Amino acid sequence: MTHLTHTTLVERMLSHRAREVRQGFPRQTSIPMSGMITLSTGTPDFPTPAHIIDAAKRALDDRHTTYTEWVGIPELRRAIADKLARDNHLTITPDTGVLVTTGTQEAIQVICKTFLDPGDEILIHAPYYDEYRRDALIAGARLIPVPTGEADNFAVDAKEIAARITARTKALIVISPSNPTGAVQPRAALERIAALAVERDLIVVADEIYEKFVYEGTRHHSLASFPMLSDRTITINGFSKHYSMTGFRIGYIAAPPDFIQAMLPVKHGMTICAPSISQWAALAALTGPQEWFEEVLAEYDRRRRLWMDALNGMGLTYGHPQGAYYLYVNVSSTGLTGPEFARRLREDYRVIIGSGGSIGPEWETYVRGSLAVPFESLRAGLERVAEAVTRFRQARA
Ligand code: PLP
Repeated sequence: MTHLTHTTLVERMLSHRAREVRQGFPRQTSIPMSGMITLSTGTPDFPTPAHIIDAAKRALDDRHTTYTEWVGIPELRRAIADKLARDNHLTITPDTGVLVTTGTQEAIQVICKTFLDPGDEILIHAPYYDEYRRDALIAGARLIPVPTGEADNFAVDAKEIAARITARTKALIVISPSNPTGAVQPRAALERIAALAVERDLIVVADEIYEKFVYEGTRHHSLASFPMLSDRTITINGFSKHYSMTGFRIGYIAAPPDFIQAMLPVKHGMTICAPSISQWAALAALTGPQEWFEEVLAEYDRRRRLWMDALNGMGLTYGHPQGAYYLYVNVSSTGLTGPEFARRLREDYRVIIGSGGSIGPEWETYVRGSLAVPFESLRAGLERVAEAVTRFRQARA
């Protein structure tokens, strides 16, 4: 009998799907390295507010340590429906229109596995949050990018969407404000998308996890609030970004009741219910004070302006970010690709920055900057980037 090495056995047994999904999957770089400055992170650097932590502790003391209703505790579903009515002008019935999930990430998986068959296609405006590609692949489906451009702040053009709809297209994803570009889709663009979705009978997935991060008076519009879309839109959101609750793993889906019913068995198969302690903490987040976030947002905005001033000084271009906490920066004028730029920054300047290469060749010269970096670290990191850019250009001349 031959004894295969462990690696060989894994490689032999690996499913085609897992093989595809692992392509471009980043190595985790969370181990802090002394002197390194990370400029690309997606994790808020602000602490979780104390009243939310207290609610989690109370939930433990009250022994909320069992499974909950699969769709989530009624108190939280009611608070979510109230929030959606207040902030987003959505009319959602808490008993039938809300599904609490283990992070927004699980919401994406549940949607893909519920609605996509192998060979199906789902459209997304590019550049996009790379997790969507993996989630579509896990369902055996294909994520089809719809290009947008830096010149018009990555606004989505409905004509570009229309050109990519085929007999296999089932849904369209809109992430606004966007990771990784910081773009907030203008109302006019959303109206054209809405009309197209109805005309071509598509499901719309609205990822609104960054809805509270908007600058310069920009307004976020919820697609599900457009009357023509209310019966075909799945809104997803979560607590990770706004309330600095990434480790709680808590999010939700709001959708017409028949959509929720269709998704529930898949969600049950993944995690049965969202973590109970986190649900009680999320309830405190929604029903507790909200004013503290104004200061947080003002600080993100200060960092956004620091980034833009620094990039302007370096002569690097970017889409003007009006939301979320990212900037998408074009480094082509240094003569380097994004991955090469990131590698040189890491090795020679002790700065970590992610590149857009995994999304597609047209994004190969972009890197993602983040506002979730304390001001002084950000200033120091940007000084290193400025020095690097000068050197890269000198070497090229
Ligand atoms: N959607 C977008 C656009 C994101 O950027 C992220 C996380 O970075 C998520 C969803 C997942 O968030 P969660 O922590 O709620 O799973």
